[in-house]
Amino acid sequence: METIWTPHRFSGEVLALDVANTVVLRDDPDRRFDRFEQADEIVRFARAATAFRAEEIGGNTLVVSDPSGAKPRMVALRETTDALFRDASVSGAIRSERLAPLLDQCARALEAAPVMFAAGQAGLRAGQGTIELEAAVAVSALSLLAPEMQRRIRICGNCGWLFLDRSRNGSRVWCDMTVCGNRQKARRHYRRRRDDEGRTVDA
Ligand SMILES: [Zn+2]
Repeated sequence: METIWTPHRFSGEVLALDVANTVVLRDDPDRRFDRFEQADEIVRFARAATAFRAEEIGGNTLVVSDPSGAKPRMVALRETTDALFRDASVSGAIRSERLAPLLDQCARALEAAPVMFAAGQAGLRAGQGTIELEAAVAVSALSLLAPEMQRRIRICGNCGWLFLDRSRNGSRVWCDMTVCGNRQKARRHYRRRRDDEGRTVDA
């Protein structure tokens, strides 16, 4: 089934975390699924990310020239990104045994797809035209290692996705208030009603 790349699927706020979130229900082995299962879907993701992450990627266009060749590198980059930042947001520490594999995957992606960083500022240089998605994701993941980025990475209280909390007071709990925030609210409401009914029966 084709994925519709809605704004909700870009709730990570930063490209590397949007990619990490292409695994849905990561913690639930029975229901977990991978939106990058089909290599073509990575191409469609790149197209959507070009629009949603225009600012981060310097207005360049993200492409995937060789989807089946890039897929194993993309998946490895995604998994090492998720493992490091998920752990760091819980433990408050970056473990070298998680950092080394991430740096290794970033190096592979940047080797496979050369790209220019903007000198003197974070991120990709504008005006490069097309950029391979895997290179842009590597640059994005590396940018998250900066302390001011790292300490804003959160895990959604409902769906478990990673997101960058850009709010002023740093108190965001949901990846997307309109989806995950409301779902939690509905669940709480349902539980409360059920409890009330239970009490009536008991009385
Ligand atoms: Zn969520």
